[in-house]
Amino acid sequence: MRRISFALLPVVIAACVAFCGCSQADPTIDVYADVTVLSDELVAVSVRVEASSLPDGEYVPFAFYPPLFSSRETLPVTDGAFAAACPDGFDAGEVLDFRAGGDVAAYAQSGCLLRVCPKRRGGTLSFCFDYTLRVPVNAMRYGRDEFALRLADFLPRLCLFGGEYREYDCLPIGDPFAFDAADYRLRVTHPDGMTLAAPGEVAATEGGATVYLADARDCTLVLLKDPDTAVASDGAFAVTAYARDEAKARSAADLALSSAAYFREKIGAPVRDALTVVVLPFYAGGMEYCGLVYVADSLSASAASACVVHETAHLWWYDSVGFDQVAEPWKDEALAQSCMFAYFCDKLPPFGYTLVESAVAASPAVTDFRRPLSEYGSAADYHRSVYCAAATKLYALRSLGDEKFFGALSDFFADRRGGVAK
Ligand SMILES: [Zn+2]
Repeated sequence: MRRISFALLPVVIAACVAFCGCSQADPTIDVYADVTVLSDELVAVSVRVEASSLPDGEYVPFAFYPPLFSSRETLPVTDGAFAAACPDGFDAGEVLDFRAGGDVAAYAQSGCLLRVCPKRRGGTLSFCFDYTLRVPVNAMRYGRDEFALRLADFLPRLCLFGGEYREYDCLPIGDPFAFDAADYRLRVTHPDGMTLAAPGEVAATEGGATVYLADARDCTLVLLKDPDTAVASDGAFAVTAYARDEAKARSAADLALSSAAYFREKIGAPVRDALTVVVLPFYAGGMEYCGLVYVADSLSASAASACVVHETAHLWWYDSVGFDQVAEPWKDEALAQSCMFAYFCDKLPPFGYTLVESAVAASPAVTDFRRPLSEYGSAADYHRSVYCAAATKLYALRSLGDEKFFGALSDFFADRRGGVAK
């Protein structure tokens, strides 16, 4: 490890680099799922989660988000963001015919938590769930509109982070997720006229595709109607972008590829060598998943550019290195945002400087950015604190010189790559 004088480094980067040691999760998780898209709104899912070396506990906790979309009261959105999240008003989703089998002896659902009592302890346990989703109309992570059927967070995920159980309610601000990686193998079938946007290795089959996504904290699929597609590759990394118009797909693909090359050079190789970018109706700018990101198609050209690069940076800070985004939401966001600042300050200086100056101006009095998600009162408060205050404080450390700045980031990345920071 490169030696760094931490006394020189103000608190943000010191906290980033001085986490306790990397915790490689002992449990192993394999997820096998048959996903049958029956129509524009109905999706049948049959999923088996195989897990070994699980921690001891009274029960095995899973996070399963679709039930939250069944009522306005449990919908994970603030009142302030509701109009953007549900531009056509609230539409209730449903989870139909939910059944559990395999090693599930009993289960209880509360909010997004699915607590399972296993039939036995130890060894490899096989948890099976079958259900049909009626996906609601909205502009959220999980939902649908006339262009996209967004299947984020639609599979039950083991509440494991760093090999330990962590049960979190789904908060309406930020990205309330913290999961260890699993290997996903999906068989997806869908009607003609839909295009599957998926992460990982995708192979076409009769009526659909198989998806293999290794070492992933989530597995998100999007079904699109008549998208324009653009691909870009530099031999080491490949991007496939989808959008409602060709120019947006082309721009997203080229920018994601260019920024991925920059981050690879400055920080190191990420855990995967491909990214799928989906430009689609979305209420919150952008969203990172493993090997796939959302970018809102309502953004201005400059905001979309910043968003594409920020979400691409999450391939390093989230996908390759996991963070507890509920307890410490500022860490991966400040890292991704700082990397976005660095990319534009080097590649398109006037625009880059404007981005940094705007973020500094937006957060002059914010110092308490080390709050857990539960302590934010509004999305605006969260944005100022995490994307502006924390990110600009971290990026200001670049004044120490690129060798120290990127040296610290790349050392930190190399230490935690493929695991989590906690
Ligand atoms: Zn982000």
